[in-house]
Amino acid sequence: MPMLRAFLTAYPWDLIDEGVAAVLDRLHGEIGVTGLSVWVGAPPIVQLRVRDVRPRVFRTRGGVFFHPNEQHYTGTRCKPIISTWVRGREPLKHIAEACAEHAMELRVIVSAAMTGRLAQRYSEMACKNVFGVESHTAVCLANPDVRAYLSGLVCDLSGRDNIAGITLTDVEIAWPEALQNDLHGIELLGQTEKPLLATCFCESCHQRATAAQVDVDMARRSVQVILQKSLDAGLVTDRTLDAVLSDNVPLAEYYRWRTEELSSVVGCLADSCKCELLLDRPFAGADSRQHTDPDPSLPAAVITRLDHPDGLDSALSSVARRNELRLPEGLVIGAHGPKLVSTVSRAVELGITGVEIDNYGLLPDTALTPIKQAIRFARRTTSE
Ligand SMILES: [Zn+2]
Repeated sequence: MPMLRAFLTAYPWDLIDEGVAAVLDRLHGEIGVTGLSVWVGAPPIVQLRVRDVRPRVFRTRGGVFFHPNEQHYTGTRCKPIISTWVRGREPLKHIAEACAEHAMELRVIVSAAMTGRLAQRYSEMACKNVFGVESHTAVCLANPDVRAYLSGLVCDLSGRDNIAGITLTDVEIAWPEALQNDLHGIELLGQTEKPLLATCFCESCHQRATAAQVDVDMARRSVQVILQKSLDAGLVTDRTLDAVLSDNVPLAEYYRWRTEELSSVVGCLADSCKCELLLDRPFAGADSRQHTDPDPSLPAAVITRLDHPDGLDSALSSVARRNELRLPEGLVIGAHGPKLVSTVSRAVELGITGVEIDNYGLLPDTALTPIKQAIRFARRTTSE
């Protein structure tokens, strides 16, 4: 068995403000972490910091946390929005050099659909729900301008020194507000209606699905009817999304088209990528996967984001070229330490070659001990 790759995710400011070399001395030397996954493009974040660094509450409106190399975006209508935090710094270069000195792998994480303020600055590229309302957070990956931008981004990042991989999160075509709890009125919708409200019906989706012979107008009307029924009478359907799709051909076709479209986006990005490309996918249960997941035969590894260790076995049964596991802070902090050790060793038994644990800046020092134990224990398993 190959040796387990053990990554810790981190925001760049947590590394920079504490001193990258000092953090890596501990993570690599004392804890046994083999690599870092650093966010280089993210939505807005407000973070209370665990360690005694200034500012104690870090705020960013989001964007990219590095200086883009402009040559990759000359032909794209949408340009990267640089976080103001980056001004006067070279965080990515600094982190990449420190990782190389410590013989640690560096991956960068970037949100594909929800980076920074793109959806607000380029509202014509934003996802739209069935009522024609633009998302404030997500751009549509079916939009050719968005795809050109992402290709440039992947090309830009993967051509830099010491970057071993790019992990894309939010590889989705969706109006994400429907799946967040801060939308008032969303409680009137049930578990089948919410993903329907999250379905994107922007002009790009309409055009491309129509070109693929899908009756998008019929699909749109049927989604409106289902949602309006629920909103009018507070009566949510007791049918699952699968059941709704099974007797609604246009809608089922539209979902099938969307899966193919996501696969084609990932395929194009893999072609532009000069290092390893990975997809970060939340594990949401067996039912909801098939409607949103790109084709598992794609040339990209999958990192399954597990919110609960209970779903481990079924999460890993999904076919992927190479699976890794991403574990939330909640599995590490406080009394959960022993659970982390058993989850990681079970994952290794199931064929996992890497784990990624969230997130250095949110983990107190006491949480580093179970991480060290989990890595040691799993290594013992792999070397047997
Ligand atoms: Zn769309």
